[in-house]
Amino acid sequence: MVKLYIFYQLVPYFTAQRAVLHHILIHFTAQRAVLHHILIHFAAQRAVLLNANILKFCSKCGHEVTLKPVPDDHRPRYVCDNCETIHYQNPNIVTGALPIWEDKVMLCKRGIEPRKGYWNVPGGYMENGETVEAGAIREVYEETLSKITITSLHMVYSIPRINQVYMHFLADLQALDYQLTPESTEIKLFTEEEIPWDDIAFPSSKFTLKRYFEDRKKGIRQVHLGKFEW
Ligand SMILES: [Zn+2]
Repeated sequence: MVKLYIFYQLVPYFTAQRAVLHHILIHFTAQRAVLHHILIHFAAQRAVLLNANILKFCSKCGHEVTLKPVPDDHRPRYVCDNCETIHYQNPNIVTGALPIWEDKVMLCKRGIEPRKGYWNVPGGYMENGETVEAGAIREVYEETLSKITITSLHMVYSIPRINQVYMHFLADLQALDYQLTPESTEIKLFTEEEIPWDDIAFPSSKFTLKRYFEDRKKGIRQVHLGKFEW
């Protein structure tokens, strides 16, 4: 009986507490909704800031630009304060080829930064006005003075953090007439067993080599999709 009495005495107390709790929860739900929108806003900003090449001046009129929302767009853009030109920034394509000679592949030791002194699949930034395969042929020639015949697309590899897309082809080396260039301090043909795996310049090159030797064992060729995120 005493217990029941105490219980009835406590009911109003708990009801009041529950009402307070209820209001607190509503308050936090509203806060959470606001926070959610703020976080979405910052995520978009962060994506732009992390990935953008910071832009200060308009390339058309030289006036300062501001990073701001653009109507009907999903992320802020650099917009000129004067001529209102919207400066879109998009990834760069790095095109390259793995030159093949019998059971060997050609790698170049980088003579320039970044990753100077490390072995790499020859390649570089695609230029305006060329096809991606013409770019690969040009890059191999610039690095090794050797000519290749492209035989297939081997991989497409995204690095969203630094706005790069790699495209590597497989190619036949036309002759063993390669020569050193300012871009390559050493050029060498490697069998799979000879590949210096710890001294490969970039994850994209390692990806290309691994997939190439795997496919060769299976006797197939296919296009691989890869990515590097951190
Ligand atoms: Zn401008």
